[in-house]
Amino acid sequence: MFQKILIANRGEIAVRVIKTARQMGIATVAVYSDADRDARHVRMADQAVHIGPSAASESYLNGDRIIAAAQETGAEAIHPGYGFLSENPDFVEKVEAAGLVFIGPSSQAIRAMGLKDAAKRLMEKAGVPVVPGYHGDTQALVALASKANEIGYPVLIKARAGGGGKGMRLVADPDAFPDALAAAQREAKAAFGDERVLVEKYIETPRHIEVQVFGDKHGNAVHLFERDCSAQRRHQKVIEEAPAPGMDALTREAMTDAAVKAAKAISYSGAGTIEFIVDASEGLRPDRFWFMEMNTRLQVEHPVTEMITGIDLVEWQLRVAAGEPLPRTQDEIAAHGHAVEARLYAEDATRDFLPATGTLHHLKFPEHVDGARLRVDAGVSEGDAITPFYDPMIAKLIVHAPTREEALEGLTNALERTEVAGSTVNLGFLTRLLRDDDFAAGRLETGLIARKQEALTTVAPLRDRHLAVAVAATSGTATGADASDPFSAISGYGHFGPLVHRRTLVDGEDAVEARVTAQGDGALSIRLGDDEAARPIIVRRDDPTRIARWPGHVTVFEGADALTLKVPDRLQAADESAGGDRLSAPMPGLVKVVRAAVNDTVKKGQPLLVLEAMKMEHTITAPHDGVVAEIATEGAQVNDGAMLVRFQDAD
Ligand code: ADP
Ligand code: ADP
Ligand code: MG
Repeated sequence: MFQKILIANRGEIAVRVIKTARQMGIATVAVYSDADRDARHVRMADQAVHIGPSAASESYLNGDRIIAAAQETGAEAIHPGYGFLSENPDFVEKVEAAGLVFIGPSSQAIRAMGLKDAAKRLMEKAGVPVVPGYHGDTQALVALASKANEIGYPVLIKARAGGGGKGMRLVADPDAFPDALAAAQREAKAAFGDERVLVEKYIETPRHIEVQVFGDKHGNAVHLFERDCSAQRRHQKVIEEAPAPGMDALTREAMTDAAVKAAKAISYSGAGTIEFIVDASEGLRPDRFWFMEMNTRLQVEHPVTEMITGIDLVEWQLRVAAGEPLPRTQDEIAAHGHAVEARLYAEDATRDFLPATGTLHHLKFPEHVDGARLRVDAGVSEGDAITPFYDPMIAKLIVHAPTREEALEGLTNALERTEVAGSTVNLGFLTRLLRDDDFAAGRLETGLIARKQEALTTVAPLRDRHLAVAVAATSGTATGADASDPFSAISGYGHFGPLVHRRTLVDGEDAVEARVTAQGDGALSIRLGDDEAARPIIVRRDDPTRIARWPGHVTVFEGADALTLKVPDRLQAADESAGGDRLSAPMPGLVKVVRAAVNDTVKKGQPLLVLEAMKMEHTITAPHDGVVAEIATEGAQVNDGAMLVRFQDAD
């Protein structure tokens, strides 16, 4: 076995790999960019090497620098995690040429599966069912559009080099094809440096079911059952589980056989996943699944498989890479109970899951849940930042219980006790999804989230009681150490009689006015609004409402939802009112396309520009009819909050 390995990744997966390596007595080397100088994976590893600036292209994607770091530190092998260089065959070859071991499959296997079009051709030959579509070389609009007509709408355009749901467009009819193609190609080029696409039949009532496979260097290959990853937004998984709800023995046998056949067709070694798209319109059937792609790496959702099989997949990866045979035969691999994983993302579900950034000023996970096993895989600690440079995933919560019902209940409970402040997160959305009737009953399909998006992303407004608690929490002196205990700060004035303090908080666009009076018993009496006769709300020191105070803000937790109020800084107030009628960048990014010019009259909902951020394209549309006074320039790199469009004053 290796003495020391380097982990060519960051965040949650780097932390995950370090944990197993440590258990096996293997020393670890982390690599990090400027933005990750103090990141959790850096703090955890035995050694850490700085590899470059924050942009992934200059750090986590800089293969030569990473290989040099392994050589400098005496690491014998490199674990790529997922994303970044994990599926890059050129990198594998360079690692091997440097005399190091790549903890993953051979470059040939990655190459065979790396491009979705070639992989599909290969799988067809191996006798694995493949989604009907066009996987050829022609890329001209007219030719692809005619292929789409032959396939029959709806069709899906996919980047052949795609991953993470990027560079993919669902097209409902021929009219929408040209624009969708252009957008898919642009996104594919930006994210993967390869604009080529394939077109395939969009399977209706689709479910995403994948099979975990494992091979070794001695010609053995096994499967570790399936995972259902149908809960997706923007073709990206958010909740995954194993086993797949409604799976019967015959369908499981057909799917796992096809998966092992696919792995054997490329003499696969290491951990891999065969993803199938399933037509679930009439339940699961042995003849209603098709090969979609193979991910030649560990998968984000691998913990659900670990929970039901009791196998540590990273340990198996290390053993196989070191040349050992698979630790178990197919007969020795069994599944028990049900496991569910939820991905906690910094993103705003109410704004179409727009990725968010921010510093996690407050971050708390529960230690355990009743009647189930809880595992939290986090890449960050309190105080760490979610930057625009990398994937906005914060952590994964995984629960294992005897039944699906208990696992869902345990996970909901764990999410409701998780607290994050400092960035917008998807916790509330996740619990609403777990409680959804169809989801809870196992009636899964990949369109479920989009279909119910409104209900799944509607957050109940703050109740007066919460506002009062927020006001109480911010009623101390605004600065200095006293701020941590507003109660003592305010009651200090109590000697001079019942002083009334005015307090203003900002809830979105609305100002929340309050009058605060300290009571003799140390509680605060709070009247909301201007009404002198408003019934006071009494907030005691031991009020059970969960809140977090962080610079300039206070967050109130209610179930899994977090409602954040701004605590205005009086000096800044004047500045903000001068804002005017403008659209600002919701996050740092690149102005990719500008669709309107100064003096243009635009209609509400009309696309004005495309902002590329976190490798995705976000179309910024006009919030109302108006005339453009100023607009950002194409190609400009903008910061969070930068002005993108200003409208002329109406009248
Ligand atoms: P896919 O979406 O490709 O089928 P997964 O759902 O397992 O597979 O997601 C893999 C994705 O995770 C990558 O495509 C990448 O966008 C993202 N990723 C890469 N590195 C990290 C990381 N360190 N932490 C979290 N996510 C990452
Ligand atoms: P990526 O590499 O980005 O993960 P995939 O090919 O695995 O791309 O597709 C991602 C998701 O898109 C799938 O999980 C599924 O929800 C959806 N999808 C892909 N192909 C089809 C299809 N032919 N019909 C319906 N949905 C599909
Ligand atoms: Mg996929």
